Amino acid sequence: MEKVLRQFFLFLSDNKIFTKLAKRYGLKFGAKRFVAGDNIGHAAEKIRDLNNQGMGVTLDHLGEYVMDEKEAKERTIETVKSIKVIDKLNLDSQVSVKMTSMGLDISEDLVMFNMRKILDAGKQHNVFVTIDMEDYQRLDTTLRIFEALKQEYDGVGTVVQSYLYRTQDDLAHLNQYNPNIRLVKGAYKESEQVAYPNKRDVDRNFKQMIKQHLSNGNFTAVATHDENLVEFTKKYVEKNNISRDQFEFQMLYGMRIEMQRELVKEGYKVRVYVPYGKDWYGYFMRRLAERPANVAFVVKGILKK
Ligand SMILES: Cc1cc2nc3c(=O)[nH]c(=O)nc-3n(C[C@H](O)[C@H](O)[C@H](O)COP(=O)(O)OP(=O)(O)OC[C@H]3O[C@@H](n4cnc5c(N)ncnc54)[C@H](O)[C@@H]3O)c2cc1C
Repeated sequence: MEKVLRQFFLFLSDNKIFTKLAKRYGLKFGAKRFVAGDNIGHAAEKIRDLNNQGMGVTLDHLGEYVMDEKEAKERTIETVKSIKVIDKLNLDSQVSVKMTSMGLDISEDLVMFNMRKILDAGKQHNVFVTIDMEDYQRLDTTLRIFEALKQEYDGVGTVVQSYLYRTQDDLAHLNQYNPNIRLVKGAYKESEQVAYPNKRDVDRNFKQMIKQHLSNGNFTAVATHDENLVEFTKKYVEKNNISRDQFEFQMLYGMRIEMQRELVKEGYKVRVYVPYGKDWYGYFMRRLAERPANVAFVVKGILKK
């Protein structure tokens, strides 16, 4: 049943009509639990609150699959603005960006142009930028963009997904840049041709990636809500004398809040991924796909209307 619901929500997540409607009608159906507000002012308040609890943030202006150059430019301007706000308010926050919101589906040159604007601002204001990973179809281009930008800028990292068969090879290839990488399971609907269909294999691959990236001496963000993987990381770093400055745990805003706080208490670095903006629909549907128990929030949201 969980598998069916997961497929259902992933199917809904890239529905263009619902995405448009959601933008028009604002944060609805319990989405506020996972999205920090629809503008940078709201998001800044949430960042301050998380910082006061000892957590860092990576801020994401929501949006994806942009097909219009003007919109990609507007999204670039918004991200640059968020970087300036982070610096001005002295917030402990990085930013995350999706290449399809920078115009990946229009042209690679456009993305490079927009990303240089963002990374110039990041450099000037000392704000690190992570390139989120999207679906398999866009993986090669995203990695190519990351590699090109990494040769021009220090302050850029990216993400790899443990549900893909090829990821250990990608990590080995990227090792030449000593990159700061976020490890995740992967959030998109992928075929068995490219991705492990069973959770057990995805988790096993995740553990391999943790070992591989840490033992190569690279900064590693272990981005998961999975207790087993968190415990595995704690034990691995302890056993191998890896400094707590070489890794951090990352979790999504509104997910496993108690575990986030517990990890801070235990002295681990924790960073929360904080999304904001009007384009919340696809992100929200992927969160429901991951944990159908979250659907209870949707039902409550609807009943409140
Ligand atoms: C910081 C961050 C950034 C990410 N960036 C990307 C990206 O760039 N590209 C991408 O494809 N994906 C990204 N993801 C999403 C990721 O790929 C997974 O889809 C998502 O994290 C769910 O997988 P999980 O590792 O948390 O484990 P799961 O297998 O979903 O969950 C592990 C266990 O935790 C339990 N659990 C989960 N949530 C809760 C909760 N709220 N309360 C109680 N129990 C819970 C589950 O029931 C399960 O038993 C990101 C995730 C994080 C945390």
